[in-house]
Parts: sequence; structure tokens; C-alpha cells
Amino acid sequence: EVRVRFAPSPTGALHIGGVRTALYNYLFARKMGGKFLLRIEDTDQTRFVPGAEEYIKEALDWLGIAPDESPWNPGACGPYRQSERKPMYMQYALDLVEKGHAYYAFDTSEELDAMRERLTAARVVSPQYNSITRTQMKNSLTLPEDEVKARLASGEPYVIRIKIPRKEEVRLNDMIRGWVMVHSNTLDDKVLMKSDGMPTYHLANIVDDHLMGITHVIRGEEWLPSAPLHVLLYKYFGWEDTMPQFAHLPLLLKPDGNGKLSKRDADKHGFPVFPMDWTDPNTGDKVIGFREAGYLPDAFLNFLAFLGWNPGDHREIFNLDELVQAFSIERIGKSGTKFDINKAKWYNEQYLRSKSDEELAAYLIADLEKEGLTVSLDKAAQIAAIMKERATFPADLWREGRFMLVAPTQFDEAVSSKKWNQEAVTVLTTYKSKLEVSQEALTAESAKALLEQAASDNEIKFGKVMQAVRLAVTGVGAGPDLMAVFVIIGKDELIKRIAFALD
Ligand code: GLU
Repeated sequence: EVRVRFAPSPTGALHIGGVRTALYNYLFARKMGGKFLLRIEDTDQTRFVPGAEEYIKEALDWLGIAPDESPWNPGACGPYRQSERKPMYMQYALDLVEKGHAYYAFDTSEELDAMRERLTAARVVSPQYNSITRTQMKNSLTLPEDEVKARLASGEPYVIRIKIPRKEEVRLNDMIRGWVMVHSNTLDDKVLMKSDGMPTYHLANIVDDHLMGITHVIRGEEWLPSAPLHVLLYKYFGWEDTMPQFAHLPLLLKPDGNGKLSKRDADKHGFPVFPMDWTDPNTGDKVIGFREAGYLPDAFLNFLAFLGWNPGDHREIFNLDELVQAFSIERIGKSGTKFDINKAKWYNEQYLRSKSDEELAAYLIADLEKEGLTVSLDKAAQIAAIMKERATFPADLWREGRFMLVAPTQFDEAVSSKKWNQEAVTVLTTYKSKLEVSQEALTAESAKALLEQAASDNEIKFGKVMQAVRLAVTGVGAGPDLMAVFVIIGKDELIKRIAFALD
């Protein structure tokens, strides 16, 4: 059975790259009839941020891609938070020490800093703790066995490091990148167990993926450099047969393609790069979210799916079920994907237009309530019907259609200076009296017929005064179909507005 996991660290709001990773894991699990797990990787307690875990849960719920197993709905492989699994890891680190693939190191942070300084001074580009440095450092490979035992017995702080082999080609076959080969002399003797008794990401991640029966690791490209170390760990534990397959997802790039997308891009351009609004309780840092910016979850999801994947043909609109059907890891690109907010807007427009008038009316009513305005469901649906072709976000339904509920008190100067003239006044005066005496219910047809009559009675071309009529009733020079607007406003209000404009 396919089992995949999303393994975020609760260190802040979930970035769009993280949500995409979650989505691809979800799609792959569904497609393969497998399970999608969520594991909270919170072994670095210094980076823990309250509320971050709830944020992750809420974001996935909003998008409809909730995990099958997680801290909130545990399966058989719990706990699903690494901090709660703490007692499980030490035995695995000790197993590696016993097999000679890991060792105790007693270096203090001052000694490590001094080492780094020494190496930097010697112009070593990335100072490492490796086969060369370890001969100079205080670890169990350089200390007599008795001394190691004595130090451990005396409670001296230590870490456990992996012993990277000297000369070895480490290979892995990434599902997206193909064969990746790394020489072991470029790898660090990474810490597996920290002095506080907590495992590092590397140890906990491998142990947990193994114990949770993970078959495929789908994660961001930033983890590719760690993958060879992970391959070595699987080997040293003797878990090679069940080692998961790796798929490292391409980076998300800035809109201009220059470098990685960051929160700063979002601030600079004012577009969201997080699923939802959030304020970091520690720093007070705010991020803006797609949800609050007015993106519909299915539109955002569709946009997200295409950030690195495509179905191989020209189709672009896919709901979640259709994405599951079409998804495959083979169709994920190798190169970075440019983030294009206009594409997100386009998706939102498509999804907004595909919603029923009643669904959109609900958004409208909720928004207007905040403004202290009430409107019937019927009327809201009518407004939605004529505004949705012009709207990108639900709020556009009323932001640009506000005049349907509230009479204008001001008139666009630029339009009135050009279009407001004696002819307009004449036609509107006639139109008003025709409306007043008309017994007919106001429909788009009758409203238009009366207006045409009012123009021809005065031997004025109807087209010439159209914009002035719009201005009189809505206050602005452009907008949705005017006769539809008249019907929504209703006859009495229409008469009142014309009177006010003529006044
Ligand atoms: N905790 C890691 C992260 O925050 C998980 C990386 C992985 O999926 O292995 O991205």
C-alpha cells in the first residue's frame, strides 16, 4: 500500500510551497489508493511557534485535503508529533553507535566555533565536521574507549554523530530528477542526537518514515542535499529494502524567475504567498493569505496544482477529483516554476463564474452585513448574476456593484463633463414621466422600450444619451448591463434617482 506523508515543522505560517507539497502528497495518495499522513516535526523546540500547528490544520481543511492520519485523527502509527515520540529515537542512535556508523562527540560549542573559524581562515568554503576534522575533535573515534565511558558516566554533555564513510559514491534514483550521485567527502558528520536528548531532523525523519511505513517521500527541492545522508541512514539501519522512493519538487520562483519566492516578494507586490492570514505571536510579523484576499479554495487548489505539474495537454480547469485522476509524479517538472499571481486571479475568475448565483449571493450577503447593509437573497442573487462576469473576487460583486443597493450621491466628473448635456436632460425628463405613468411591471425589455420612446419622442438618438443615463442612475460611466441594473433597482428607486440627478 502506498503511504505518503507531509511532515511540516510548526515554525510559522505554512508557506505556499508547503501547501503545494501537501497537495501533491494528497493527490498521489488518492491516485494510488493509498494513505496520506501528516507528521508534525517539532524536534527543534527553539523554533516552535504557538498556533503554527493549528494553522497547518486549518489550511488543509480549507482546501479539502485533510490527512488520513495525523495528530488530530491518529492511525496505528502514532504519536504523530515527534516531540511525543522522543523516547523512541535514542535506541536507534545507539544501534548505529554499536554498528560503528555513529559516535559520541563531546565538543563544546566554543570548540566547534573555533574549528569553523580555523577552516574559514584556511579558505575552506563550507566548513564541515568530516573525516578530516574529526581527527582533531573530541569524539569517541579519537578518545580511548575508557575515557569515552568515563565521560558518559560523569554526565558530560555529548551529541551522537553519523560517521560518514571516507570514499563512497552515494546514489539515489529520484522520481523527478533521475539518478543523483554525491561523493561522501562532500557530506558532514551530521548530528543525529542532540545534547538535550532530542533527535535531529535527519534521525527522526528516517526513523519515523520507516516506522510509519512510508513508501514515497515527496518534498521540496531544498531537501535534496540531505537525501544522500538519508540513503546512508537507511543502509546503516539495514532498512534498504523498504527505503521509500524520493521525489523532490521543483522550487517556486519569484515572478521574474530570479531566485526563490519569498515572503518579501509578497510584501513588495502586495500579493499573498500564504494560504491564510496570520500573525506570528512571537514576532508580530503578519502575512496575508489567499483565503482572506478572496480566493476560492477550489480555484487556489487548481492554481497550486499547476505550480510544477501539468496534465500534458491544454486543459487547465480541474477540480480536486479531476486532479486526482490526472495526477502523476512523472509529469512534475524538474525546473523551478515562476509564481504568477495573474494566473491565480484568472483561476479565481473562472471558478467564480462557474458558481451559481445563489452561492455567490451568500458571499455578498455576508460581506454586506459587515457594512451594515441588508439585502434579500433574491436581490443578492440578481446582483451576483450580472456582476460575476466582471468580478475576480467575491468582494467585487458589491465593491463595483454597490450602486445597485445605495443611490449615488456623487457623479463621476470626467463622465459628466463630457456626456451631461441638454439632450440628456430632455430624454431623462421624458423617461421619468413615462416611468411614472407606466402601469407595466419593470422588465429589462419594458425599461428599454420606454427609454427608446423617450429618446425618439424628442428626436434624439438613444445611443447619444446612454452614458448620461447610466451616470444619472449609477454615478459612474461604465458597468454591467444597464437595463438589468434598472430591474434590480426597481421602478420607484429608478424614478427617485433620475429626479435627484436632474435636480
Ligand atoms: N520537517 C521538514 C520540513 O519542514 C520535512 C522535510 C521532509 O519532508 O523530509 O520541511
